[in-house]
Amino acid sequence: MTRVGIVGGGQLGMMLAEAGATIGVECLTLDPAPDSPASRVARAIVGAYDDEDALAELAADSDVVTYEFENVPVESARFLAERVPVAPPPASLEFAQDRLREKTLFEDVGLAVPPFAPVATEEELDEALDVVGLPSILKSRRLGYDGKGQARVEAVEAARDAWRSVGEVPSIFESLVAFDRELSILGARGSDGAVAFYPLVENVHRDGILRVSTAPADDVSPRLQAEAERRALDVMERLGHVGVLAIELFQVDDGLLGNEFAPRVHNSGHWTIEGAPTSQFENHLRAVCGLELGPTTPTTYSAMVNLIGREPDDRAFPDDPAVHVHRYGKQARPGRKLGHVTVVEDHRDTLESVLQVITRTADNLA
Ligand code: AMP
Repeated sequence: MTRVGIVGGGQLGMMLAEAGATIGVECLTLDPAPDSPASRVARAIVGAYDDEDALAELAADSDVVTYEFENVPVESARFLAERVPVAPPPASLEFAQDRLREKTLFEDVGLAVPPFAPVATEEELDEALDVVGLPSILKSRRLGYDGKGQARVEAVEAARDAWRSVGEVPSIFESLVAFDRELSILGARGSDGAVAFYPLVENVHRDGILRVSTAPADDVSPRLQAEAERRALDVMERLGHVGVLAIELFQVDDGLLGNEFAPRVHNSGHWTIEGAPTSQFENHLRAVCGLELGPTTPTTYSAMVNLIGREPDDRAFPDDPAVHVHRYGKQARPGRKLGHVTVVEDHRDTLESVLQVITRTADNLA
């Protein structure tokens, strides 16, 4: 039995451990919280992400170590890599942790990005205003997720406030794109270089947090799917990435712009648990364990709704075998992802009508 250590014990760690149990992979996690979601289903080492004793214990008890969030300190990844194989490689973390390097990587592989300029001082902020124009978003280069560390700038006078609100840290000033919709491409890459991609997913965000994903996204041409896969493959190859990787994209007309990538399993891939022949969690474990990747092409239509802020009673959802409710066992808090609901249907029309009921239920909770 292969043992996979996971840095992070949130819901992603929990769902990885659940997937592992179905393919003979035993997961253990490291998380500072004694009551992490993953601790409900797998052995949990309690410790800080830079606690060398805890990291050494994780390494000693694992055949390979992976992670479930991208802000793992790179030093910790290196410490682990001296003791045990680590996948994805530290390079994937380094690029994902810095929006400037991430955007530059996208450009290097030919994936267009919204116009942007790096900003490290107030003078550079003024220059960026000139070059990029308005409306824009100021985003801190590091430690931003779910819309945190970001401020929109609609007018020149608001730029200084935005700069202060992100903490006057190195940032990028990025043009606000009037996109047609948001998409994501998820793929897994094995250590032998084999890849498997899921179909493009359509994502709807609210307040910077993912609310609904629909898979496959409607009205995607084979050309658009191929374009997304080619760029994601190039990113993975440049990084020497092993595991799942997700790129968040903006679609404008029939072109794609890169927003950011996650070197890990991703919220917009939760539908794959019930909606795809192999879930993103299983394929991530297959990749990092050197196993053959499983098939990814769905034969049905899926939608996933996040439960954010408060949790519903089971009775709030339709008693329907197509509806799958997942709970993470977390304390409720505004803006916190507490669970998700996936609907899988044979027909897109039916999916849409059930999805409306689910989103209404979820909206009443927030
Ligand atoms: P991020 O943290 O970069 O993923 O941003 C969170 C969400 O904010 C995205 O999913 C978009 O909905 C929105 N957003 C971020 N950057 C832009 C942009 N340049 N133009 C328009 N919307 C954006």
